[in-house]
Amino acid sequence: MRFFPTADISSVYQINFKRLYGIGIRGLIFDIDNTLVEHDAPADEGTVRLFETIRGAGIGTCLLSNNQEKRVKPFAEAVGSEYVFKAGKPSPKGCREAMEIMHTDEESTLLIGDQLFTDVWCAYNAGIRSVLVSRIAFHERFWIHLKRIPEALLLLLYRILPRRRDRKLEEALYEN
Ligand SMILES: [Mg+2]
Repeated sequence: MRFFPTADISSVYQINFKRLYGIGIRGLIFDIDNTLVEHDAPADEGTVRLFETIRGAGIGTCLLSNNQEKRVKPFAEAVGSEYVFKAGKPSPKGCREAMEIMHTDEESTLLIGDQLFTDVWCAYNAGIRSVLVSRIAFHERFWIHLKRIPEALLLLLYRILPRRRDRKLEEALYEN
């Protein structure tokens, strides 16, 4: 199902990146707004440390945002990450660009984001796995609020319908 993430976790700050490396992940594609920080917030100390940890685990990173370069570039520079702006998610184009930049492929790359209709669908279109995180803050743009209604319904289905699970990924994510 194109709108179902491969797995979900409440926050990126809970992920054990050494374990992700252990199951073959070499590149992470990150959404920014409401995934790493609140909407339009700059990178903070926690985000900078998070990316240091990821690099330390031997995993490359690329930010993938539909936002403009003036939002994405300073953020990327602050955390020391590659980036793709105006990505046009859910188009797979940006994902492919990100993989090219990180020298990774569909198997070794994971996309982490907070929205089903942009992030999760984008990963699906590019043939890579995705991890859904809970949005950091409730306040966001009006049109995003609108998308949250069908999203809530899909999330409910995601939780109750039987689906093929990626046990290896789930174990790496949940067992810290
Ligand atoms: Mg987002």
